[in-house]
Amino acid sequence: MPGGTDQTLRPFLWRATNLYSDTEIVSRNHDGMQRYTYSEYEGRTSQLANALDEYGIESGDRVGTFCWNHSRHFETYFAVPSIGAQLHTINPLLPDAHIQYIVDNADDELIFVDQSLASKLAGAVADADDEFDGVDFVVMGHEAADDLEATPYESFIEGHATDYDWPDVDEDQPAGMCYTSGTTGNPKGVEYTQQMLWSHTMASQTPQGIPMADDDVVMPVVPMFHVNAWGMPFTATAGGAKQVFPGPSPEPEDLATLIENEGVTISAGVPTVWLGLMEYCSEHDVDLSTLETVIVGGSAAPKSMVEWFDTQGVEVLHAWGMTEMAPIGSVSHLKSDLATADYDTQVEKRSKQGLVVPGLEFKVIDDDGEEIVWNGQEFGELWIRGPWVTTEYFERPEANEADFEDGWLKTGDVVTVDKDGYIKIVDREKDVIKSGGEWISSVELENAIMAHDGVAEAAVVGVPHERWQERPVAFVVPAEGADRETLVDEINELLADEYPKWWLPDEIEFIKEVPKTATGKFSKKDIREEYADQSLVEGQVPDEAAPDRN
Ligand code: AMP
Repeated sequence: MPGGTDQTLRPFLWRATNLYSDTEIVSRNHDGMQRYTYSEYEGRTSQLANALDEYGIESGDRVGTFCWNHSRHFETYFAVPSIGAQLHTINPLLPDAHIQYIVDNADDELIFVDQSLASKLAGAVADADDEFDGVDFVVMGHEAADDLEATPYESFIEGHATDYDWPDVDEDQPAGMCYTSGTTGNPKGVEYTQQMLWSHTMASQTPQGIPMADDDVVMPVVPMFHVNAWGMPFTATAGGAKQVFPGPSPEPEDLATLIENEGVTISAGVPTVWLGLMEYCSEHDVDLSTLETVIVGGSAAPKSMVEWFDTQGVEVLHAWGMTEMAPIGSVSHLKSDLATADYDTQVEKRSKQGLVVPGLEFKVIDDDGEEIVWNGQEFGELWIRGPWVTTEYFERPEANEADFEDGWLKTGDVVTVDKDGYIKIVDREKDVIKSGGEWISSVELENAIMAHDGVAEAAVVGVPHERWQERPVAFVVPAEGADRETLVDEINELLADEYPKWWLPDEIEFIKEVPKTATGKFSKKDIREEYADQSLVEGQVPDEAAPDRN
């Protein structure tokens, strides 16, 4: 017998507002700190739902957001899906051309945008052909935006009723959407149905996931435009936890202050965020005593990070996931039989990408198409499937063929699995560069560089970097007769016209020839090996060249 209702997000909101009506939601907004309760949250979320109805948003329509982590953004998280529409979180760090593509591809009707991001969006709108035709904008806050014609959010919801008769939404109804830029070409859309988000939340709430309860204070530093901040706003609501949103571009000092003032117990972000906080703590007296768990993901957590947080009495949970799977896939909890293992063994395990969370299955396929043995040595591509793993991209049949097979998602991550079942990522099949948790397409940069007359060939690779994990370095073969004196500046100018600052290579090096594979492709592996000693260190990269995503 099927259950009485479908698997949807609405019951999570219902539970929090009925059981924890006085629990707080705190937000560092661009216009100051805001603090209210779940009860007020529900009132404002209802007002937003009524406003969306009046605007004409209907079931199945897509509503975009172009925002950092704050309470108004959180209001869209439940209001939009719970009226049967679809929340499309847009990554504001993408190049304009990608933003134009995804707004057009998703066919967004309305976009909520932060004050601090309005000019960035306005730039993408100004350069667009017809991608933004028919799209309206609401700017988060009380005031209008300078560069963009947009209704202030507070006027948009003002005067609307603080209750809403939430409809029964089908669990197969798309509730969320996020684009992944993990490969070459245009970003690929992933749709999350109500059921996918529900099951991801329930799996997160298991002890093997990243559970959150009513005595927790949860602060997602991972952006809410990045796979729903790893689902944390939903998981925290389901558990009735206090939520703290760190707002636009939080600096380590902001995070330290929020942890101290609000008593944060669980936070999550990419390694860059935690390296920043660690550095800040080494120079300032910060009280981390309430912090129990730090979830690190998006890129590999260095062992030293796990160890440092141990010295502070904070457990690092290293998590692996993907946009394609809403996103949590594995978490590095220590198995109970490892509780008596020596500290080094434990840290070794905890630094891996971890144990698959309940509800998912995986297999690892080697070059011969065979499943590997779980011995920590053999490696292959990780394939995964389960209720919150997508089985297709939005309107991208050619990408589907490459990335999915018989219901499995072929992750592109090359992994080993040890005898205890711990997954460890050893490489990425694709050569994208991941800087501070954000993707940079090496192929796009190469093509842009090779468009210069003075360039014969160019290969861009990710070089390890202390703070940002990876930064792009371009290896360029100058064309005959090219003026080497001016070439680097010209390439930089060319790239700066088209890409955000943080995409620009930290270095452009001249080489004689790009090493090739047997099939004539650029051998990034060889380049990386040859230049492995070039690890970039903090200070070499101007901060403004790095993604503004702390
Ligand atoms: P995204 O879809 O942008 O979240 O990126 C997903 C990809 O990020 C994965 O396929 C991995 O290559 C990488 N990734 C995510 N989590 C980790 C992690 N804990 N360690 C290493 N790489 C990771």
